[in-house]
Amino acid sequence: MSETGWRHANDLLDDLFPLRESAAATALRGEFRAWLKANLTGRFTPLIGRGGAWDEENFSLNVEWERHLAAEGWACITWPKEFGGRSAGAAELFAYRDEYFRAGAPERVNFLAEDLVGPTLMKHGTPEQIDRFLPPMQRAEEMWCQGYSEPDAGSDLANIRTRARLQGDTWVIDGQKTWTSLAARSDWCFALVRTEQGSARRAGLSYLLIPMDQPGIEVRPIRQMTGSAEFAEVFFDGAVTSAENVVGAVGEGWSVAMATLGFERDWFMSRYFRFARDLAVTVDYVRNTLGDPRAFEERIVRSFTELAAFRAIGLQTLAAHEAGESTSPLTSLTKLFGSSWHRDLGELSFSVLGAAGAQTHDQNTVEHALQRTFLYSRAEPIFAGTNEIQRNIIARRMLELPSSTAGSRS
Ligand SMILES: Cc1cc2nc3c(=O)[nH]c(=O)nc-3n(C[C@H](O)[C@H](O)[C@H](O)COP(=O)(O)OP(=O)(O)OC[C@H]3O[C@@H](n4cnc5c(N)ncnc54)[C@H](O)[C@@H]3O)c2cc1C
Repeated sequence: MSETGWRHANDLLDDLFPLRESAAATALRGEFRAWLKANLTGRFTPLIGRGGAWDEENFSLNVEWERHLAAEGWACITWPKEFGGRSAGAAELFAYRDEYFRAGAPERVNFLAEDLVGPTLMKHGTPEQIDRFLPPMQRAEEMWCQGYSEPDAGSDLANIRTRARLQGDTWVIDGQKTWTSLAARSDWCFALVRTEQGSARRAGLSYLLIPMDQPGIEVRPIRQMTGSAEFAEVFFDGAVTSAENVVGAVGEGWSVAMATLGFERDWFMSRYFRFARDLAVTVDYVRNTLGDPRAFEERIVRSFTELAAFRAIGLQTLAAHEAGESTSPLTSLTKLFGSSWHRDLGELSFSVLGAAGAQTHDQNTVEHALQRTFLYSRAEPIFAGTNEIQRNIIARRMLELPSSTAGSRS
């Protein structure tokens, strides 16, 4: 898909949502825009409008792109300067992500390190863990996956059964994780496991960092309806990691895991920029390809106006961040609203395609991009805490409604 294919519709978004941002954010925006123009070219051209865990064909190139971003100072920008970042604030991050997706730059494949486990280590890690793990994370030299979910522990995360026991200076791990994104591509896994025999629910869990390349770990990829095997089942059978690879206190992994989930829900706001682009692709297709676009007018207008609301919620979340305030349960609102909005857009994208376009297998076409929006958006109400769980959080914490059941991921 060429960049020009959606440029016009993207400009419409600009008119609809004029930006009022700080001088620092505007400066960063300009610098990054010029950098992207000069760098998202040549060997990286196949990544334009693509990339991410689903794009198996381009995965190695995607990692190269991550390394290039890092080497030029354009990865981990919110990380402190001493860890290779720019100490960027929320408004600068907004400008950065906006420019990134407007340029058609690929979905990130190192986000689990950059946005989840990296910030968690900065908060809860030892100086030794920070020195060991952050530099290769920043350089995208070591990829990470998240080992939380198990067959009987998804929304009810406290039901974790994977266990680890300390033998000398080594943790020995047995059990199973599932839906582990990028497990087959990862060097390390940050996992929540039960380290106190006989413990239940949130007590007795620990947050371990586990190397993936070892005989005690078997990764079985699961192919999704998108056609790619983004996630996998992970079996631990006497897998090992060093005793020092526990983050936070032994037995108190729940609070560390919740810190990571907080970062994950903040990360979801970054989907806004991707979503805005998906809408632009759809609008562009309707304007330029369909003979009579009127059948879709009402849904497109609704989508535009709701995107404005999503942006407003996102900006509110950013303001809370800037002020150092808690973003919970605002992040639940963002997650619920954003994933529902994108699922509806996916249905619209699929409708405008019609029967023939819906069957295309050529990944380089705009039709395939629209098809992907539909298929992938089905997962968004599920990962990072399902929409039902987000509704529970909003009901209890915002509306103070009584609740008979409560998902542990909350
Ligand atoms: C694309 C994708 C990538 C993922 N990547 C990862 C990953 O990298 N690492 C990882 O650890 N996990 C990952 N997951 C797993 C994800 O976190 C879980 O699927 C999610 O937490 C839901 O858990 P579950 O699938 O076990 O469903 P369940 O928890 O069994 O839920 C089934 C249904 O019941 C509903 N439900 C459950 N409890 C309640 C309640 N208390 N109140 C109301 N409704 C409820 C749910 O909303 C859902 O509709 C990924 C999932 C997807 C789809």
